[in-house]
Amino acid sequence: MIDKEDLRKGAESFGLALDETALDRFDRYAEALAETNKHLNLTAITDPEGIVTKHFLDSLSVLSVYSPKHSARCIDIGTGAGFPGSTLLIARPDLQMTLLDGTQKKLHFVDETLQSMGLYAKILHSRAEEAGQRSEYREQFDLATARAVANLRELSEYCLPFVKVGGTFIAMKSQKTEEEIAEAANAIHLLGGRIDTIHTFSLRDAGERTLILIKKVSQTPPKYPRPSAKIAKQPLK
Ligand code: SAM
Repeated sequence: MIDKEDLRKGAESFGLALDETALDRFDRYAEALAETNKHLNLTAITDPEGIVTKHFLDSLSVLSVYSPKHSARCIDIGTGAGFPGSTLLIARPDLQMTLLDGTQKKLHFVDETLQSMGLYAKILHSRAEEAGQRSEYREQFDLATARAVANLRELSEYCLPFVKVGGTFIAMKSQKTEEEIAEAANAIHLLGGRIDTIHTFSLRDAGERTLILIKKVSQTPPKYPRPSAKIAKQPLK
């Protein structure tokens, strides 16, 4: 269904070598996504070229700026239909991947699809701000990722509590980010993070993308993340 050669080349441009097993798995994931989308709203992008560029390559761009160590513990927050988390796992099956979302329906799709190709991810049905207060998840991860989930200020409160000191949080953004980053600067500091690098690139004809890499430099104070209503009403300043 997808043009595997095109995906292989796109990944190569990120310095990433995808083998035949990975390419087959991407093909099956795309097929399952388009098929399931007929009865469950998973994504607005269902054409093969769109899936390759806007889902797979966009997600894989994370690996162009950050290379997790072997069997690193990773969490994708607000994974939806598995982006970027499932994609990272297909490219790097050694990763210990947790996929978190507040919506069960999409997680079911992700779980079934990954299992059908012999991959395992821990599926976590929870709001990020609840799981982030539980000791089994708090400051346990080498890498946290999130794409299209929330404004960076709120997103940092959702994501940084999961990251261990020394680990990294990568926020994936498609729109202009300068203002968003400036507004989030103090929140990131309060949560124990420090902006490390900001990487902007062009995702083929799909426009600009920005990857914001935030290092966890100290523990997140216990009061964060706050309950959802508080985060929404009083974003950290
Ligand atoms: N990351 C996926 C992608 O880029 O295709 C999905 C993006 S979708 C626009 C946002 C997802 O984040 C939804 O699946 C939603 O349920 C989830 N989400 C938003 N806020 C959340 C929170 N506080 N805790 C858990 N999931 C959340």
